[in-house]
Amino acid sequence: MGFYLPFYDSTYILVIIGLVLTLAASARVKSTFAKYSRVGSMSGITGAQAAERILRASGIYDVTIERVSGQLNDNYDPRSKVLHLSDAVYGQSSLAAIGVAAHECGHAIQHNKSYVPLKVRSALVPIANIGSMASWPFVLLGLTISGFGFLIDFGILLFSAAVVFQLVTLPVEFNASKRAIARLGEMGILYGDELGNTKKVLNAAALTYVAAAAASILTLLRLVILGGRRRD
Ligand SMILES: [Zn+2]
Repeated sequence: MGFYLPFYDSTYILVIIGLVLTLAASARVKSTFAKYSRVGSMSGITGAQAAERILRASGIYDVTIERVSGQLNDNYDPRSKVLHLSDAVYGQSSLAAIGVAAHECGHAIQHNKSYVPLKVRSALVPIANIGSMASWPFVLLGLTISGFGFLIDFGILLFSAAVVFQLVTLPVEFNASKRAIARLGEMGILYGDELGNTKKVLNAAALTYVAAAAASILTLLRLVILGGRRRD
């Protein structure tokens, strides 16, 4: 059949399903975060204060807490040991703010305790970045040039590195939230119903990672199907 258009065949439905899942999870975390941003905590402490307390109580004194502008871009940077908290988290005393701040502390605690999945994830970052970008040129060349089908397999192998990275991210994220909820309860930062509601925010956030992993698995499946067709 000569030239093959790998971007517009029927397997594209897999990419669309992945996109829908990703968008749905993103909409859900935004609405859940917005809902619990309007619910103040009884303790009245801000996200930054909660983070400070959790870090100290965990014996961590070398992590600094910094405010960053943006939305839902809170993160812990293990290289600089900086906990970045966004505007809606840093100075707010809502359940959403305290929950997200505690979750990022969860990552700092993982780093402090040399939690193995976090180490694996960090080691995979460069491989995953190269893999997801470099896979498509190889797949396209393999699909379009006859006799170069082996390039498809190489492209699939590269993309698999990105999928593994997404999968290793899952235990890291779930564990950070588990540590966060445990600390918030133990330390009395949140009480009763507050813990359950904060959990909802963190679960919605975790779902975005599940959706991202599902989307990359669907894309990998598509590559495998395209590669299989080429060899027929
Ligand atoms: Zn996280």
